[in-house]
Amino acid sequence: MQEQQENVLATRATVTATLVLGAVTGFLLGCAIAIPLAESHLKTYLERVAVQDDASLTDARALLETMQHSASPACSETELSNLRDLVFHSDYLKDAGRIQRGKIECSASAGRPARSIGDFKAGQAQAGGTVLDGNLTPIRDESLKRTGIQRGNAFVVFSSHLPEPDSRLPLRLTIYPYQEQAGTTATSSAGSPETSSDQAADEVERRGDTIVASHCSTVMSRCVLASVGVDDARRGELLVISSTTLAGGIAGVFIGIALCSLHRRSLAPDRQLKNAVARDQLQLAYQPIVNLASGEISGAEALARWTRPDGVSVGPSEFIKMAEDNGFMGSITNLVLRRALKEFGEVFKKLPEFRLNVNVAASDLMDPKFLPMIEAVVQEYHVRPSSLTLEVTETSAANQEDALESIRLLRRMGFGISIDDFGTGYSNLSYLLYLSVDSIKIDKAFTRAIGTDAVTVGILPQIIAMARTMNLAVVVEGIESPTQADYFSTDNLKIFGQGWLYGRPMPAGEFFSLLGVTVDQPSIAAIPEAAGVPSRWRQLRHGAGTATVQ
Ligand code: C2E
Ligand code: MG
Ligand code: MG
Repeated sequence: MQEQQENVLATRATVTATLVLGAVTGFLLGCAIAIPLAESHLKTYLERVAVQDDASLTDARALLETMQHSASPACSETELSNLRDLVFHSDYLKDAGRIQRGKIECSASAGRPARSIGDFKAGQAQAGGTVLDGNLTPIRDESLKRTGIQRGNAFVVFSSHLPEPDSRLPLRLTIYPYQEQAGTTATSSAGSPETSSDQAADEVERRGDTIVASHCSTVMSRCVLASVGVDDARRGELLVISSTTLAGGIAGVFIGIALCSLHRRSLAPDRQLKNAVARDQLQLAYQPIVNLASGEISGAEALARWTRPDGVSVGPSEFIKMAEDNGFMGSITNLVLRRALKEFGEVFKKLPEFRLNVNVAASDLMDPKFLPMIEAVVQEYHVRPSSLTLEVTETSAANQEDALESIRLLRRMGFGISIDDFGTGYSNLSYLLYLSVDSIKIDKAFTRAIGTDAVTVGILPQIIAMARTMNLAVVVEGIESPTQADYFSTDNLKIFGQGWLYGRPMPAGEFFSLLGVTVDQPSIAAIPEAAGVPSRWRQLRHGAGTATVQ
């Protein structure tokens, strides 16, 4: 629970940090691309101007061609009517007519003026090029600020409107006559007869805090200068900036969550176990130990359980080894002892004969801190050492002098000592003589062999006989079936059974119900896999036991 809360807090902190980082990165990215985006908008706009200029020239050429081959007399009502029609249907032409000695003689818009209007000047061929082709001459009406082209005595005037900017940017558009512009900000190349002679948008440049780009057209005899302020560009791209900020924030959240789960997964299992132990997060399951003669539950074995933060439960054989290999087995034994004594304190008072078995690792026996620790724990929980049986393995009991010394001292302190998994480890049983242990727990490998023709079965009577001779209690592990239980004679009062037949390892609360003892437990956590099985114990306890006496 505590770890979950810590995980939630850590995840929240990480996600907040990555969110802020992502949003800031997104914002900076938005700012960084706001200017290039504004530049690209300028370019795009001027490209549209260029396209429009092309279309204007195409329309103008076609109209001049029509006028050249007109069957109607020049400036006649028929011609003017035709011209009005053609100009009206063109998006890019404003007027068309005839010129006589440098003055307008007639035009689609003005008809046949009583006096000549405007003063169209033929453009001069000069640097930058104004010559369109052999027949076309750019003209400019200074008074009307209009431009057009002339072929022979026919002329057309271009519409002066520019395409509407479709960008959110507040573009400033300035139109300069071509000649004034030529050689300064805009350069232009001589046109070819086949093209508009226009030049595509020039490179965008920064002038102070303004971004400018221009497009010059020799045909239109004008340059269009589009500009936008840097601040306006940033403001105009606010949507882009807020989008990149938002996208950065969202990406940050995902990255944060991914990082957290990656971190959790990448945490080495031994580190996770150590954390769980430090946070007191291991649980205990208790498996009944039954007196085969009376059918009574005489004790229980405390077995450690660990569920990883990702919900996977790890078997004790695996995590106990992990703790031993990484040198923190002592903390697990400490945790198990404390938890077991805390949970069973009342049971010991109500059933003084009840014995709780706790597994002790070889490394515990060699640890100089172990004995003071266990002594302190039993004192703290006011439990008599005789209520506890410490299960040690054969190898740890027989091998090391330090371990043997610890076992002797523990015996002297009053703890019961049982040899766990008896028969699997050490072939020389002489240690039993000088260790004076209380009991042996016959490994389930022997129990499993009952009813089969495995050679191990043959050893069982010898082990039991030896135990009887040495006055040792025998606990038979791994009794799963009545056949296995019935194998053991109950004339020996010191023979006990442990196995699924009597109950699987279960949480303390469940065990107390099985025991028939009411214990006031403030919080006994449930253990997922500890569901009990229909137990032969109940039958035995209620006098229906059928164990065969051998
Ligand atoms: P163990 O001390 O020999 O414990 C008995 C094991 O046999 C338990 O396995 C138990 O669940 C299992 N068992 C009991 N009855 C039956 C049965 O009828 N059939 C079968 N197939 N198995 C049965 P568990 O809980 O997985 O523990 C495995 C081992 O992990 C233990 O063997 C013990 O050596 C070690 N262990 C468990 N808890 C602790 C602990 O707190 N400290 C230390 N040092 N070792 C522990
Ligand atoms: Mg054991
Ligand atoms: Mg065992």
